[in-house]
Amino acid sequence: MKEEDLWEQEEYERRRALLRARRKRESERALYLGIVLSLCCMTVLAIAGGALFRFLKGRRAEAAVKEVPVPPKTVQTPPEYETALLSVNEYSRPGDPLEEVKGIVVHYTANPGTTARQNRDYFEGLGLSGETYASSHFIIGIEGEAVQCIPCDEIAYASNERNADTISIECCIPDETGKFTDETYRTLIHLTAWLMGSYDLSVDDVIRHYDVTGKACPKYYVEYPKEWERLKQDILEYIGTYGENAIMN
Ligand SMILES: [Zn+2]
Repeated sequence: MKEEDLWEQEEYERRRALLRARRKRESERALYLGIVLSLCCMTVLAIAGGALFRFLKGRRAEAAVKEVPVPPKTVQTPPEYETALLSVNEYSRPGDPLEEVKGIVVHYTANPGTTARQNRDYFEGLGLSGETYASSHFIIGIEGEAVQCIPCDEIAYASNERNADTISIECCIPDETGKFTDETYRTLIHLTAWLMGSYDLSVDDVIRHYDVTGKACPKYYVEYPKEWERLKQDILEYIGTYGENAIMN
């Protein structure tokens, strides 16, 4: 090879090496740039994400503060009932004030086939016979008819030590099982729901005579506690369906 050719060959190799080195530097630079840009993007996203999270959290807290409590629903009107108050007498209507109502006590009459009116007249008769002390604020008959015997601001003789702070409801029964008819049941649910609203009571304030004294009254709903629980559930559902939200000032 001529000296000139050799020099050209060397020069060619040298340029190629320089070119390779430059390309390598360029590709490394591009990689570093890529990494740096990626890191920058991630940082920006993290900051933006954090800010968005704080913003939404703030909005939620603001919404929670602004949320107005919904007033509880109450049933505003009672079922139809006859008012046939007992004469004031020692045995069934003492006339003592019922100063505070903290509960509603459900009973059964224990005399199958009798009407609300017959039971009311029995209580009235106690005033003359003096046979025993007994009465109830309301009596519901097997056809769903209801009679009020004692004003709600006077005590009745129905629930022993809870006479002083409860309203009592006697339910008539068609037979020995003590199960209420559908009609009785419906009136009981409506009457109880209305009384709960009137006295600001919860469904836990609705109790059986059994819960006061351990007496098997109302019989069917003592023998079948699940039926009693269902009755209370039905009261809540009734209020949910027919109740209205009171207007809060
Ligand atoms: Zn009872």
